[in-house]
Amino acid sequence: APTDEPPRDDRAARRVLHDVFGFSSFRGSQQAIVDRVVAGHDTVVLMPTGGGKSLCYQLPALVRSGVGVVVSPLIALMHDQVEALRLLGVRAAFWNSTSSAEESEAVRRDVRDGRLDLLYVAPERLLMPSFQSLLDDAAAGAGLALFVIDEAHCVSQWGHDFRPEYLRIAEVTARFPHVPRIALTATADALTRREIHQRLRLDGAAEFVSSFDRPNIRYVVEEKTDARAQLLRFLEQGGDGAGFRGSAGIVYCVSRKRTDEISTFLRQKGFDAIAYHAGLPNEVRAAAQQRFRRDEGVIVVATIAFGMGIDKPDVRFVAHVDLPKSLEGYYQETGRAGRDGEPAVAWMAYGLADAVQQRSFIMRSDGSPEHRRVDSAKLDAMLGYAEASSCRRRLLLAYFDEKSGDCGNCDTCLEPPELWDATVPAQKVLSAVVRTGQRFGSGHVVDVLLGKRTDKIVSWEHDRLPTFGVGSDLAEPEWRSVIRQLVARSVLSPDPDRMGALTITETARPILDGVETVELRRLPAAPARSRSRSRS
Ligand code: ADP
Ligand code: ZN
Repeated sequence: APTDEPPRDDRAARRVLHDVFGFSSFRGSQQAIVDRVVAGHDTVVLMPTGGGKSLCYQLPALVRSGVGVVVSPLIALMHDQVEALRLLGVRAAFWNSTSSAEESEAVRRDVRDGRLDLLYVAPERLLMPSFQSLLDDAAAGAGLALFVIDEAHCVSQWGHDFRPEYLRIAEVTARFPHVPRIALTATADALTRREIHQRLRLDGAAEFVSSFDRPNIRYVVEEKTDARAQLLRFLEQGGDGAGFRGSAGIVYCVSRKRTDEISTFLRQKGFDAIAYHAGLPNEVRAAAQQRFRRDEGVIVVATIAFGMGIDKPDVRFVAHVDLPKSLEGYYQETGRAGRDGEPAVAWMAYGLADAVQQRSFIMRSDGSPEHRRVDSAKLDAMLGYAEASSCRRRLLLAYFDEKSGDCGNCDTCLEPPELWDATVPAQKVLSAVVRTGQRFGSGHVVDVLLGKRTDKIVSWEHDRLPTFGVGSDLAEPEWRSVIRQLVARSVLSPDPDRMGALTITETARPILDGVETVELRRLPAAPARSRSRSRS
């Protein structure tokens, strides 16, 4: 039974750390976590990828008697994990849909005879009656050491890794109230954390949150003008000017079609690029994963399907040529860079069209209104990051409830954007939007401001509006930047059902009335930017 006394097995844990895993010391909060789990307490662990989560449950499974049951959705990785453990002399096995009848029988026998330390299962397997009886046998025999719920964020219905079976894990573990549970994930926004505690019924569990900072990753965002040309420039000159020829990296795209386009383009430019998305046959995907892992300098151009379980240490860059849906998605994707601790870059090109497209995905999805609201709020946070005028890392970490100072290793720290009082331009934009009836996208609004007599403007008689031509003081890219920043601050909202028509929100009123001022980031000269930074 759980106690609050310091674990007597402290020395046992250290010995296992040293003798089995070959490590001289614990890292970060590993020791505290191990102590708690060994002592039989429920625990939730939020640790970034590469932080050392596995040890937090593998070690207690060895110290406690009986078998540790590890629920993981990553069937493809189970084999490798088990192999690696066996090489360390740990008695590990997996049981999933790929297991043969003989293998399954061997697992049953080993569990019954108390000859296993760790058993990996897929969530659907955990729920099967045959597995229930196996658990009963184990409990009655050598015992259950602990339940491990890996990739615990799969319980969140809002995330893209949602697994319905995860909602039923708590039913299974509730039958063994004296067996401690440990839930682990690298996703840590407040909503997901709450869901993990609630849906896995881990209310009383202690939560260990490691720093999510990845100091060796440099964050850079550019305004998207021509995604391919910009990506090419990044690959040739990014990363302090040396470029990324011969380096492994991932380019994330919004659609399957685009992964094909961009990978073809990169191959033409002499890069070893391969496309990866969920529509490809299993063998093709497996081959791509394997080439990425084994060969040097492979660039995978992928949708978010290229995801969980990629643990290549020397990924030098992660590029986003389209805006991700949420900051947690972005954080996870960029977190695949630089796991070896060496410098790496997370680069993104983004434009207003991305925001409009993402908003339209949300509005057209068949989720509930609540679901849409959550998705919308996540997108807003993502936009806020893309348009940040202060340290991007600070903003990213704040999203995970972590306070930090300016990092010195993101584009806004390295080259602080110039801020300017944009109240008057903002008023001009807002009034142009209102006067044209909140029915037009940013292109048309900018044309009105610049006083262009396009066919569309003439036919709508927008050349007669008082706002026509009031914006000749700024150039077109600057107006676009003002509009993007107003969208990122939710002053303007593009309506995806009307091709991105800009509408004003309630926060626009005080600006129009001159009660509130607006400070915006000045648009830097785009192409010169990456060069000057790379020399500094
Ligand atoms: P995560 O599952 O959080 O992504 P892993 O458990 O795969 O991370 O650990 C990442 C790497 O760190 C692995 O190579 C692992 O062997 C190593 N590692 C974990 N704990 C320690 C430790 N205490 N000392 C040294 N290396 C460690
Ligand atoms: Zn910074």
